[in-house]
Amino acid sequence: TLGGAQSLSHQGVALFAKDHGRVNLHQLPPDLTPAQQEHLVTTTKDWAIQNGLAVRPSPTALPAGADSNRVLATNAPVTLFPSPFPKACFEEAQALQTVYNQLYAAITCNEEWLGKVMGELIDVDDFVANLWKTHLAVQKEGYVQNLSLGLYRSDYMAHVAPNRAPALKQVEFNTISSSFGGLSALVRSLHTELLTSPPGTPITYPPHPLLQSGVPPENTSVETLAGGLATAHKAYGSSKSTPELPLCVIFVVQDGERNVFDQHALSKRLTGFHQIPVFRVRSSELFDQTSVSDSNPSRPLIYRPPYSPSSAFEVTTVYLRAYYSPDEYKSSRDWDARVHLERSAAIKCPTVLNQLAGCKKVQQVLAEPTGPDHLSSFLKGTDPTVIARLRETFAPQYDLSANSQGRNLALNAETALNHVLKPQREGGGNNIYKAEIPGFLQSIPETDWKGWVLMELINPAPDAVNVALRNDGEVLRGNVISELGVYGTILWDNTGKVLHNDQGGWLLRTKGKEVNEGGVAAGFSSLDSVLLF
Ligand code: ADP
Ligand code: MG
Ligand code: MG
Repeated sequence: TLGGAQSLSHQGVALFAKDHGRVNLHQLPPDLTPAQQEHLVTTTKDWAIQNGLAVRPSPTALPAGADSNRVLATNAPVTLFPSPFPKACFEEAQALQTVYNQLYAAITCNEEWLGKVMGELIDVDDFVANLWKTHLAVQKEGYVQNLSLGLYRSDYMAHVAPNRAPALKQVEFNTISSSFGGLSALVRSLHTELLTSPPGTPITYPPHPLLQSGVPPENTSVETLAGGLATAHKAYGSSKSTPELPLCVIFVVQDGERNVFDQHALSKRLTGFHQIPVFRVRSSELFDQTSVSDSNPSRPLIYRPPYSPSSAFEVTTVYLRAYYSPDEYKSSRDWDARVHLERSAAIKCPTVLNQLAGCKKVQQVLAEPTGPDHLSSFLKGTDPTVIARLRETFAPQYDLSANSQGRNLALNAETALNHVLKPQREGGGNNIYKAEIPGFLQSIPETDWKGWVLMELINPAPDAVNVALRNDGEVLRGNVISELGVYGTILWDNTGKVLHNDQGGWLLRTKGKEVNEGGVAAGFSSLDSVLLF
């Protein structure tokens, strides 16, 4: 076998990482007196707003009629302390990121392979079916842009098994709207300031041995992600319009987006450092503010700012922070808008095909322990030992076909407890966990089961503790689980030629141990940073 489906309890590197034995995770964070906690919370709240570590409040969390002018912002949910994270796992995740970038670019280029995997889902999943139809419609007319841009985030946990060093295991790979790169670097700055300010000054932690052991590593997520967008912008070349138009990037965003400051961190870097004009367009306004000139066979995408409709820009790159969830497509007009973008000359981040390559089903197929060696075919020319390391990051995943191992594990009350059931969805809040799996499956038609994948649970260190400041001001202390995200960006053409492949920046999200789901935006976890051990 290729090793993928061996149960996680038997996996891991046999030796402890350096210094692993010396860290007592119980010790972090130090106990705080009520006065110390209050001081730290106040400091963190102010720091967050002063530095843009912020989100818009949820309207449902406010009293009726409050903030009717939408002026309020609040701290992003954030931990008061950095969390210990195994250094070897952190470094391995970074080392593998450009290989993962290449893998997902190669999958996207192989329409036949991807089409076969999607074929399994199309009968049972309308959302996937509509995305695939969008691709077919544009393909029929002919794509006019052969470059694609990926801004990815690969998510992991450090899996702990008895007598083993922690092992890096992938939770999922995101190919669309990978968020929090803009805020995660700020959390790193907040924790670094708290760790390094002179003792006794207002912005420091109470003295504690673990807090003397260093600062979180640098976090270049903003530079990396904006760098990817800037590279695509340049690779687009000159204006295809007659007469020529100035060039720009657009961010397509959701109505009512609350995580705007995360996005602004990227657009600010693009305009300030790269000198590229960036505009935000709500998906509901795409048809009002953009057009494709069909008289021009190159089909440039033209953007007209609503406050200055006589000026026009040609869009080099469309960065989607929208369109990843079915509830964003309220009518056929929304699907038409997606086709409108896809058929234009702008470089899409991501294309419909690249979005589909990020389906959980693809991740399950890649992790299959027997059958064709997909990784080696997609990563031709890559050192086989590197491919083996990438494969090591897979946790066991299964389809639910008749008489399969996956179906047995999912329907058995005992074995279900060690698993999570995932649909082809993004953004958090969609999975079914543990004891609920058998009953859930029995509640839906058996023909729909092929739209789901079963995954073994990854178990990070059980004794980690942290304190979170939620965005309604609530302070929670308790046992936590952390999930590391690593950012990468890649630009390639449809023949598979890679023009840019970069890795940099990371995210740590931490949630209560008893909470199954992940996402910060979905309200389950808090932004955090790492202390490597
Ligand atoms: P989404 O695309 O909606 O973020 P994920 O696969 O990341 O879907 O699942 C959401 C959350 O569920 C994760 O952030 C994590 O907390 C939890 N989760 C998912 N898969 C696993 C797993 N194999 N082991 C432990 N937790 C998991
Ligand atoms: Mg996801
Ligand atoms: Mg996720």
